[in-house]
Amino acid sequence: MLLLEPLKPLKPLKPLEPHIPDKLSAYDLSLEEWQDWLKRNGEAAFRAGQIFDWLYVKRVGSFEEMSNLSKPLREKLTASFEFVSLTEIARQQSKDGTVKFLFELADKNAIETVIMKHNYGNSVCVTTQVGCRIGCTFCASTLGGLKRNLSAGEIVAQVVQAQRLLDATGERVSSIVIMGIGEPFENYDAMLKFLKLMNHEKGLNIGARHITVSTSGIVPNIYRFADENMQINLAISIHAPNDELRSRLMPVNRRYPFAELIEACKYYLRTTGRRITFEYALMGGVNDKKEHAEELAEVLKDMLPLCHVNLIPVNFVLERDYKRTERDDIFAFQRILEKHNIPATIRREHGSDIAAACGQLRAKHLESQ
Ligand code: SF4
Repeated sequence: MLLLEPLKPLKPLKPLEPHIPDKLSAYDLSLEEWQDWLKRNGEAAFRAGQIFDWLYVKRVGSFEEMSNLSKPLREKLTASFEFVSLTEIARQQSKDGTVKFLFELADKNAIETVIMKHNYGNSVCVTTQVGCRIGCTFCASTLGGLKRNLSAGEIVAQVVQAQRLLDATGERVSSIVIMGIGEPFENYDAMLKFLKLMNHEKGLNIGARHITVSTSGIVPNIYRFADENMQINLAISIHAPNDELRSRLMPVNRRYPFAELIEACKYYLRTTGRRITFEYALMGGVNDKKEHAEELAEVLKDMLPLCHVNLIPVNFVLERDYKRTERDDIFAFQRILEKHNIPATIRREHGSDIAAACGQLRAKHLESQ
């Protein structure tokens, strides 16, 4: 038997600086911040509602088009804010309707956004950071490390761009998943502002229950998020049923160990009464054996009925050496969880013909530069 050296714990991650762009984008401001800005600039606060309407309901492409604002105000807005913070540099469309965008930011960094078609509507998967420093061993997004956090406006603009594409066919963004490139709980303040903007009744008005945030397990911010008292869904990327294996797959576990993560999840359940989805990427021969399923059920049984497991057949990533779990083994894993009354679903694949897994299109783009 191969004996592996125990992995040493790592220090908690140092908080990251928020990204403050040289010039704020039109999507960086909340309604209240627009009201403040207007008052400071000698304008009536009610104009904030009009600006919101142009940005999120009419979804215009410039301040110039905001025809119920005076010309001097439009000029002031143009001089003070960026309007276009994302430039589309590539788009891939899958046979199943999945659309993947590669966007360039004002500083030339590239990010990905994905629209996925479901029978219940269109969901948009957004990116929160340029790259990622979490280092999950099965993920292409972390290969080049982290460049910077996104501003709230850069996250909002991804959904607005997706909605503009859907406008052509009269469809709308019905749900949002914060599962694209980056760890959203490492960019907490911008993520929170994004959530409030998306949920705002004068904005895109996407119901909190239709928004899901996924974290790799930044424990302090799970507590913080539990205390926000929002109706947003939480998903935890667990991917292993114990400390040892999780540390090998996800270095973040050496900073915030498994037991601390499970405690934080239980706090979330007690505080919010809301269910947690546990994401489990199945990797052939690594974490997909029957004993792993039994161990996972044992860990989660105390959280019933407020837990659910989402099994994800891992996507092949060229730079990583993980194999897909065989179909029969995926079902066997699911059956074991269900035998212990843990609800478990198998995630439907989206865009497998267009490298829609997180970070793959961006990784190709970086290679070509
Ligand atoms: S899975 Fe998420 S948290 Fe982990 S490295 Fe990839 S982007 Fe970062």
